[in-house]
Amino acid sequence: MLCLGIEGTAHTVGVGIVDDSAKVLANVYDMVRPEKGGIHPREAANHHAERVVPLIRKAADIAGVDLKDIDVVAFSQGPGLGPCLRTVATAARALALSLDVPIAGVNHCVAHLEIGRAVTGAKDPLLLYVSGGNTQVIAFARGRYRVFGETLDIGIGNMLDKFAREAGHGFPGGPILERAARDGGKLLPLPYSVKGMDVAFSGLLTAALNLLKKGERFEDLAFSLQEVAFAMLCEVTERAMAHVEKDEVLLGGGVARNRRLQEMADRMARDRGAAMFVPPGELCIDNGAMIAWTGLLMHKAGVRMSVADTIVDQRFRTDEVDVVWR
Ligand code: AMP
Ligand code: MG
Repeated sequence: MLCLGIEGTAHTVGVGIVDDSAKVLANVYDMVRPEKGGIHPREAANHHAERVVPLIRKAADIAGVDLKDIDVVAFSQGPGLGPCLRTVATAARALALSLDVPIAGVNHCVAHLEIGRAVTGAKDPLLLYVSGGNTQVIAFARGRYRVFGETLDIGIGNMLDKFAREAGHGFPGGPILERAARDGGKLLPLPYSVKGMDVAFSGLLTAALNLLKKGERFEDLAFSLQEVAFAMLCEVTERAMAHVEKDEVLLGGGVARNRRLQEMADRMARDRGAAMFVPPGELCIDNGAMIAWTGLLMHKAGVRMSVADTIVDQRFRTDEVDVVWR
């Protein structure tokens, strides 16, 4: 059985094709890269509208399948930017109707967790989901994926991107800071903001920008931002692991590609007799394969959606999904 999944919650439009053994046959994507400033939802949606059909064709070519062989079409139903979600949902509906196959609307955060479980061998992990717009600590409890901790303001990726942008660098800022941090080493005082199992990043961003204006080196600030922000994440992750009694932690989202975060999470996990897992980079970022895989799990568990059920939800919460496949 083959599922084609379309991702398009924010800056990335992606198309993936997977089979029912979680083999990724194709996973292609295109990312909006604004010349300056942040992402404008409508510009991103126009980008996705232009790119989605060529990406569907490219994915089918790479997978070596005819679109007629696709059994299910899945798409990211939320959470995300309204114009982007609507564009991708429209493409998915048109494809499903023209192929005359079922359609599955997938929760983006749940998809990050499911692809990680499928490809890393983690069985019942707690997910530290760290992306541009989202920062959440998620675990399976009583039939649903529940959010145990999250950011109270901006996502960690946005914080890193904004800092890099204000310092005159391009997008995405996360990888630029990771490289710069290797040439830094002075730990500057930045606010450590943990509230129970939640975190906050905007105070950290403001403080780092102030220190930059005062003449501190970009490299030292990149280093300090990573150390402080990642320590906050590891602290809340550890607290949640203890609370829900999980002995696996899975990283997901674009920021999970960061080697320093991986190292710190691995150390935290091993210190408490647990294990850390991280999917390959192209399955960490927003991608179509994770949507396809989760759509396939839903379909095989008997989830069926009418076109009317495919309305997008900008604020689609992780714990709204009835996880009937587990
Ligand atoms: P996503 O929203 O999951 O697609 O992830 C995009 C975010 O991941 C952006 O905010 C990037 O800056 C961030 N990111 C990507 N690679 C890295 C990295 N190596 N270190 C830190 N952040 C990263
Ligand atoms: Mg994401």
